[in-house]
Amino acid sequence: MTDATQRSGDGFGETHGDETDDDRTAYDVPSDETPVECTYCGRPFESDALLALHRGQVHADVITDDERAAYDSAHEAESGQLRRFRLKALAVLVVIYFGFLMVYALV
Ligand SMILES: [Zn+2]
Repeated sequence: MTDATQRSGDGFGETHGDETDDDRTAYDVPSDETPVECTYCGRPFESDALLALHRGQVHADVITDDERAAYDSAHEAESGQLRRFRLKALAVLVVIYFGFLMVYALV
């Protein structure tokens, strides 16, 4: 019978021992933080952008038009950040590759 209460969270950061239905206990949120919480499942998030991404991914079939617009905006911003990260990672790999190539040619 404790299976139903343990499945209320999705497995991330679940506490051990005395489980309750209160979702605030299912996540390890520092006491000095003020998280934003999902209105559908109660999961806490650090920022509104992360909450918008969560709603668009997990609750895509029930979110409102405003929430979908927020998801699209957050998704586009995250895609841009990922694109820049990939370019920087590629540049670092190229520098390392040619760096080792030059060292090998000289030694
Ligand atoms: Zn949620």
